Amino acid sequence: MAPANAAPRVLMRRLREIMARPGEPQARLDAIVTQIARIMVAEVCSLYLRRPDGSLELFATEGLNKEAVHNTHLAKGEGLVGLIADRAEIVNIHEAQDHPAFSYRPETGEEVYHSFLGTPILRGGRTLGVITVQNQARKVYSEEEIEALETTSMLVAELITSGELDDDVAAMADRTTSRHFSGVSISDGIALGHVVLHEPRVTIHEFLSDDLHNENVRLDQGLETLRSSIDKMLSKAELQRVGEHKEVLEAYRLFAHDQGWVNRLKQAIASGLTAEAAVERVQNDMRARMLPQKDRFWAERMKDLEDLGNRLLRILVGDTETAATSNLPDDAILVARTMGAAELLDYDPKKLRGLVLEESGASSHVAIVARALGIAAVGEAANIVNRVDTGDDIVIDAITGDVFVRPTQDVIDAYSDKVRFHAAKQKQYSELRNKDAVTLDGQDISLKINAGLLVDLPHLAQSGADGIGLYRTELQFMIAAKFPRMSEQREIYKAVLDAAGHRPVVFRTLDVGGDKILPYMRMSGEQNPALGWRAIRMTLDRPGLFRTQVRALLQASAGKVLRLMLPMVTDLSELTKAKRLIKLEEDFLEKHGHEGPERLEIGLMIEVPAIVYQLDEVLPLVDFVSIGSNDLMQFLFASDRTNQNVAARYDMLHCVFLRVLQKIITKSNAHNVPVTLCGEMAGKPLESMALLGLGLRSISMSPASIGPVKSMILSLDLQALETFMIETLATKSGSLREPLERYARDKKVNVEAFKLT
Ligand code: PEP
Ligand code: MG
Repeated sequence: MAPANAAPRVLMRRLREIMARPGEPQARLDAIVTQIARIMVAEVCSLYLRRPDGSLELFATEGLNKEAVHNTHLAKGEGLVGLIADRAEIVNIHEAQDHPAFSYRPETGEEVYHSFLGTPILRGGRTLGVITVQNQARKVYSEEEIEALETTSMLVAELITSGELDDDVAAMADRTTSRHFSGVSISDGIALGHVVLHEPRVTIHEFLSDDLHNENVRLDQGLETLRSSIDKMLSKAELQRVGEHKEVLEAYRLFAHDQGWVNRLKQAIASGLTAEAAVERVQNDMRARMLPQKDRFWAERMKDLEDLGNRLLRILVGDTETAATSNLPDDAILVARTMGAAELLDYDPKKLRGLVLEESGASSHVAIVARALGIAAVGEAANIVNRVDTGDDIVIDAITGDVFVRPTQDVIDAYSDKVRFHAAKQKQYSELRNKDAVTLDGQDISLKINAGLLVDLPHLAQSGADGIGLYRTELQFMIAAKFPRMSEQREIYKAVLDAAGHRPVVFRTLDVGGDKILPYMRMSGEQNPALGWRAIRMTLDRPGLFRTQVRALLQASAGKVLRLMLPMVTDLSELTKAKRLIKLEEDFLEKHGHEGPERLEIGLMIEVPAIVYQLDEVLPLVDFVSIGSNDLMQFLFASDRTNQNVAARYDMLHCVFLRVLQKIITKSNAHNVPVTLCGEMAGKPLESMALLGLGLRSISMSPASIGPVKSMILSLDLQALETFMIETLATKSGSLREPLERYARDKKVNVEAFKLT
């Protein structure tokens, strides 16, 4: 064996010569294994490449029987080689035959060799093949030998994927292997398209360098740039742009200064690699040594380190173009570990079809934006980033949370049908856009949309809705880097009112807390956040915050009607306090000579059961009410709306819930106070049919639901339904879903929401 660190350098030089030579691919692979064996003083060196079915084929060998080449196929996971490929792990043992995974292949003649070292050939986290060396002597291979073989693997990986060998070999690069990932839906929809990695993988062109000094200087400069960019990101103003949580960035900073990492990078350079190839090799090495990580904490830290390596790579190769600024395909499906809401907004929405994230649940900010943009999105697709490449075919079913990468034709066909069906339905719904929502017996129904971001505004015209029944002002706060200033808030509200034109907009004051977190606001960790310090409770404790928002809203509505709605009111006193603060702002406006709204209407969200029992007191004090069925259901049935295990346990069409709604509607009508409902149930045709049957004439929903709900209304005889509802509610118990479905079927009410399955 050559002295430490010399072997990799000599090997690199020889491999470079081989790669520079013209020749048949097979001859080149043969020459590669011969050189590895010679320089590593191994009796055997073999190269296995992965077939699309996951099996491994012996492609070249020095030392084993030559007849075995292309004849020895190891099934997926078979033998030590299969183990290395499956786990992307190095195996280094002095007695191969003692290993439980050893599989004897007589055609190879390998029984005389005892020690065995194998490394995976990795590319972007995928295993393309395996390189092994074997010796008769029982020995454990040294760190330098492992390093030499790993570096060689990296070079061979590059050779395979760059197509320098030939198309057949390049096709082995696992590109055709389908993979399935199970995540959770964070924005409904189905999409077929092509992968765009949000953090594009860097292509390394120069692997080898003789100028050690220069590479070390480049590395030092790269590290310096990396560290200062992390410091910059950590400064608060930048936090939201990069969409990272502070802890992740803190971890980056720690790793970026980690001497162990820097030493490993320097060692890799010393073996003859360029600075960027050194980063890639250390990353491969880390993946190989640490995979698979069961412990969540370490798995996260590994991803941090990997992200950091990618950032450093981009700095070193001068590739600062992000996926958002590069040429996007028309059917882009973004894949990322995590992403900030503002980063998603950087993409051209016309080209985005979907989003897949390794992290992020349905209540994350990026999920809110994905829903606002109307793109299908799946979260919690574990480890997907390392298993896809930009350009891969991908299908996402963001109803079930399934993601298919490089899908088989069957999957593509099945989903193409669903998408076509969806498109046809959408076309039908958009044809209803200019039709009034009137029942068969002539009852006018007002359909409005829920919104919360400027990107929602075009939906108002597209859906043909009557207005915005719920504008969730907190969304803008949630995606901002810091509290928006009064003037910033005012401009946004003005833009909303301008976009709405003559159509009414109901602005809900800040509803933060619970699962709606502002990244820049310190909140004490609560045991029961949904029942905690949130919405009106918080804003009344922070009157400055509340008054600033009210001031912005009053100014934005100059000369127009301002409809202002208070969330989560639980007690009459909260309403009176809030009204007092609003009055102070009206007086302030007048005193300073600002033009105020032509009229101010104050409304109340009914979403806490306690307020249902104070309706006679609160209704005379408000101009309108809106039922927040999401929270009302959660509190009435003690069932966390964000917990998948219980969220669907109780039906919104349960008699008890419908009776509570009936009470609210009856009381509001008796007090002559307009009542509407803006929870998710309004957007589901069967549920909205029930709501109309209970007496509601106005509902607000996500824009995509307007078409299906309008289609239900156009086929409904409301008077007959009202009679049915009164009778059924008085006599039945439990869920009314079945009787209502039967009713819709018998009376031919179109409650078939767009269903994909
Ligand atoms: C509700 O609770 O039904 C509602 C509309 O408010 P949010 O979903 O924003 O809590
Ligand atoms: Mg609510």
